[in-house]
This record gives sequence, structure tokens and C-alpha cells, in this order.
Amino acid sequence: MAQTPKARGRFAPSPTGPLHIGSLIAAVASYLDARSRQGEWLVRIEDLDLPRQMPGGAGLILRTLEEYGFEWDGEVVYQSQRDAYYQDALQQLASRGLLYPCGCSRKEIADSAVHGTDGLVYPGTCRHGLAPGKSARAWRIKADDRPISFHDAVQGKISQVLSRDIGDFVLKRADGLFAYQLAVVVDDEMQGITHVVRGADLLDSTPRQIFLQRALGFATPAYLHVPVATNAAGEKLSKQTLAQALDSLNKTEDLWQVLTFLQQSPPDELRRDSCAGIWRWAMQHWQPSRIPRRRAIPTQNQQPQH
Ligand code: GLU
Repeated sequence: MAQTPKARGRFAPSPTGPLHIGSLIAAVASYLDARSRQGEWLVRIEDLDLPRQMPGGAGLILRTLEEYGFEWDGEVVYQSQRDAYYQDALQQLASRGLLYPCGCSRKEIADSAVHGTDGLVYPGTCRHGLAPGKSARAWRIKADDRPISFHDAVQGKISQVLSRDIGDFVLKRADGLFAYQLAVVVDDEMQGITHVVRGADLLDSTPRQIFLQRALGFATPAYLHVPVATNAAGEKLSKQTLAQALDSLNKTEDLWQVLTFLQQSPPDELRRDSCAGIWRWAMQHWQPSRIPRRRAIPTQNQQPQH
């Protein structure tokens, strides 16, 4: 009998700053999901956007993960070293006539576009060729009007019509960098990821990723999007909203808070246990069906610092 392939999950932080409780939620959920399937768990550093990075950020994130007791499989992969693979995928899509160069500035798009599911819907200005005097800035893929649906293990059925909800989207940016949507699809395929677990801020990106997977002949993994933690103002905890960095002084407490956020109901006495103890409990008791079906949940004790 053929063996079922091993489940494989991943955590893919962007090294724009140190880990905070919001990023720890995605790390813990993806780790427990993979381990509870006896699967592997990989770490990929999404460092494509060099200008937004914190120097030393990747090393800091990996050290913090280690301190919290995460154990990843294989070598850590860095997106900044993988341009050749992204270029290859771009070339494949181009050779099938799916791409076109776009000469629009942000302002031109803002002046003529309508709002969609995830920002402005590109009005298709350059779809049939660049206007005279315009030069190519970015490369876009033609979205179509076939609905793309998938079942998310927490958020349920999600459907989008890309042409209406998103518009033709960028795969190579005006600054020459490959877009997240392309890189993530190439990497998840090349790394053999079967289960993507991440924050629900990326839920609306998933149909774009499935569209690219289909266009490139890649497999579509299973998806589970956990609610993101927000501050009292409803903003996702992030470096931009000044979320506090994890200081690893209260590791067990932080992990306990994450499990509570994910409604796993860890017993109170675990708060005084070790990281190893809390992981042991969590692996035995992980129940994804208890994760709230919400895209965002405010947390009280993570106010922005002033
Ligand atoms: N790098 C992304 C982030 O830090 C996550 C991408 C993903 O999990 O697909 O938000």
C-alpha cells in the first residue's frame, strides 16, 4: 500500500522586527497543527522586502523560537536567496501570455480604482498595452472571473472572483522585487508544504495564491487561518502598531496566553510549568475545532506602547 505523504507545515515570518505575541500565535498554531499530524514543521524567513527589514531580525526571530522550545525540521530557507526560482515561475506565466507590464503609478491607480476585498481593484489600464510615453514599472497577472473557493479549517468556505474583488495583481513590483503572492506559492510548492496555518490577515490573499498554484500546475495545500490579535483600536499587533517584543522572561506564561487566545483551555497550573511541560500538554490536547471562527480578536494586555 502506498504510504500517505508526511504532513508538512511551516512558519514564515517576515523579519521586520522581533517576534511579539501576535506572531507567536501563528507560530504555535502551525507548530501544533503539524506536530499533531506527526508531520514536519519548517521555518522560512520571508526577507524579500529588504528595505522593511530590521538588521539582525531573522537571527533574533530564530533565537526566540528556540528559546520558546520550537524545534524545526531541516534548514531555514531565506527568500532573499531564491530569486532564480521566482524568476522561473514568472517566466512560465509570461510564456503563457498571462502577464503584462504596467506603467501606472500609485497615484494614477488611486485616482481611478474602486475598493475591493483587499484594497484597490486595479482598473486594468495597461492590460492591452502601455500608453505612449509610459514605461513598464511592474508586472501584473490577468485575473479572471472564475470563482475561486476553498474550505478553511477555521474560517469555513471562502470565495472570491479575482477580476471583481482583487483585479490584476502584481507579481513583480516596480522596485524590482518579487511580490509576496508569487514567492509564497513557489516556496510552499518547492518545500512540499501540505498544511498552511497562519493569521487571518492573509485569508483574502489565499484565492490569489490558489489561482497562481493552478496556473503553475502546483498542488493546493490545506488552509487554516487563525484569528489575529489586535490592540484596543482594532489594529493587528505588529511592529507598526508597536506591539511589545517577546522578552522570553515569561515564556510559559506567553505560551499559556497563546493557547488561551486559541481557546484550547490550558489548565491554570500549567502557567507555573516549564516550556517543555506546556508543549507536552499542548501536543496532547490540540483541538483546532476550538479555535474561534473570527478574523480578529482584541487582546487586553497588549496595548501599543507610547
Ligand atoms: N511573511 C508573512 C507574514 O509574516 C506570512 C506569510 C505566510 O504565512 O504565508 O505575515
